[in-house]
Amino acid sequence: MIIESQELPPIGTNAIALICAERKECVIIDAPAEAYRWATQLAEQHACEIVALILTHGHWDHILDGHAFAKAGIPTYGHKADTEMFEAPSRMSSYAIPGLEMLPVPITHWIEGGDTLELLGTSMEIRHVPGHCPGNVLVYLEREEAAVVGDVIFAGSVGRYDLPGGDFEVLKQSIQSQVYTLPDQTTIYPGHGGTTSVIQEKASNPFVRG
Ligand SMILES: [Zn+2]
Repeated sequence: MIIESQELPPIGTNAIALICAERKECVIIDAPAEAYRWATQLAEQHACEIVALILTHGHWDHILDGHAFAKAGIPTYGHKADTEMFEAPSRMSSYAIPGLEMLPVPITHWIEGGDTLELLGTSMEIRHVPGHCPGNVLVYLEREEAAVVGDVIFAGSVGRYDLPGGDFEVLKQSIQSQVYTLPDQTTIYPGHGGTTSVIQEKASNPFVRG
């Protein structure tokens, strides 16, 4: 599997592509602005079909382009705790860039902690990691030793917990019980900034120690 990460507008949010060349399929995780164009170009390069869009959480900067994937008939996955944000993203407009158009994202597959998605010929484990946002999930790819985590943790930092539905104690609990329990060598792909690893954050994250 090839894992590609791309920082996209308007505030530098990462979209992740999981590409399986043998099956000619790919899965996209998160949809900032321009994600659909980026994903379709990538899919074309690899002669792949986009078989799923997984949204790590409902914050506007992660779902802006979600409507375009839905319009193309691509199945979309999200956690029900963020239903309101998927259905009416403009409710978050006071936290977004003024004047930005935010369209609803119809979720076709509701996911929750403990689910296993069978996509791209591999098992993807869903872990629920609230604290930054009530419906934040991470996608753990055991065979790839990789986890796509949304905004729960970043290289040397953690997600904001001052937005609606945020809570530091819940975030800390999520990180300790769901992120730091992944194998040490797991590469972490956060929603913003560069990659890190479980062992690196356990050893030196200034907010939550392992
Ligand atoms: Zn967020």
